[in-house]
Amino acid sequence: MAKDLSATVDEQKTREKLLRDDLEQEQRRSRELFREIQSMKGNIRVMCRIRPAPADTPQEELADFGPRERGEYSNHWAKMCIPQERKDFKGDIVTESRNFSFERIFGQEESNDDIFNEVSDLAELALSGKNVGVFAYGQTGSGKTYTLSNQGSPDTSNDGIIPRTLALLFETAEKGFLGYKYSISVSILEIYLDNVYDLLQTSPTGEKVTTMIEGASSFALESLEAAQEIINMATGMRASSSTNKNAASSRSHLILTFKIGREPINTTSQEQVKDGILNLIDLAGSERPAASGMGGQQLQEGKKINQSLLSLNRAIAALGQGTQVAYDDPLLRALRPCLTAGSKTLMFVMVSPFKRDLSVSIQTLEKGQEATNAKLAAARRGNNPRPSKTPTPPPRRPLASSRPSPASNRPPPRS
Ligand code: ADP
Repeated sequence: MAKDLSATVDEQKTREKLLRDDLEQEQRRSRELFREIQSMKGNIRVMCRIRPAPADTPQEELADFGPRERGEYSNHWAKMCIPQERKDFKGDIVTESRNFSFERIFGQEESNDDIFNEVSDLAELALSGKNVGVFAYGQTGSGKTYTLSNQGSPDTSNDGIIPRTLALLFETAEKGFLGYKYSISVSILEIYLDNVYDLLQTSPTGEKVTTMIEGASSFALESLEAAQEIINMATGMRASSSTNKNAASSRSHLILTFKIGREPINTTSQEQVKDGILNLIDLAGSERPAASGMGGQQLQEGKKINQSLLSLNRAIAALGQGTQVAYDDPLLRALRPCLTAGSKTLMFVMVSPFKRDLSVSIQTLEKGQEATNAKLAAARRGNNPRPSKTPTPPPRRPLASSRPSPASNRPPPRS
């Protein structure tokens, strides 16, 4: 009888071991599949969004983005063609076509929901041990904050990338994604001129305090609610700065850094695991100082912001080309983990719908195009198995002198 019992216990143990082995094999397979899918998307992803104009905006105030062309991914638009008027050497007005191509262009009819459908794997990437950086690049008022941070509580349908990514991050971590258990902590920095502020600390009199990037404090997060509370507190502090009273929040960069520690749930696993980093960045507006008639302090802000954004673009290009870059700017130093080989960067190029903003919009689109070209360079070097998906933009080509057609402002037909 005792012998029978011990045989049953042995059988039970063998069955458990087989099940554990199966599970481990399944988890290994899903990790490999996940890595494969991500490597197909490349290290740099550049997408564009055109902010909607208010419904009552007169047609003549709207910029013409041309008849957008379908991208190579069949179900969306990825090429933009903007007619731009110029004077030629004889003083005649000619219209040139400015062409841009991105992995994806979100039109004015598309929502934050549509955006998140395209980028929801960010949370999973960070949980899989990658360093991930997401930022929106564009002039003040082009919809950066709406796209990244918008929180339409209690209705969450307009939530931006940050609240949605965090919700998914915690939900996925709780489920033991890929067979790990996770610990998540956050640091929150604000960069204004050359100063780096640690928004998780204040001075005894309640003012913001500066920090070295490496010395930023970090706070362990137990839940999504704790994360939201701490982010709201820090962003509130950014807006009500007493250190730089003149700086509206659009003149500083806000950097949320989530560190994601991992441990295999199966304690017998010998696997070496790397922590992940998720950097969510609300950049300062990219408008040039002269564009809005600034002076004094604002001119200095504008110059510094521009210098930082240029360095950021250079770093993205270097990431695509596999070359070295000098981390000589506080913004770059803060983003360094997400700008080195093996990391993933997602850049949103944000565009205003208004004609009055067109020349700044074109400058912004040019910066985005540089990043797309860096991605293509990486693809040509064999870092991306699908090099032909984001085509090089065609060369500039003059058009016949004409007024832009108002019809081309209409959203393209959905497929
Ligand atoms: P930025 O952060 O680039 O300065 P905001 O995100 O603050 O710009 O957007 C400027 C204004 O436009 C805000 O009132 C915002 O609510 C509105 N807005 C921006 N993008 C959208 C959008 N996709 N849908 C509806 N309103 C938007």
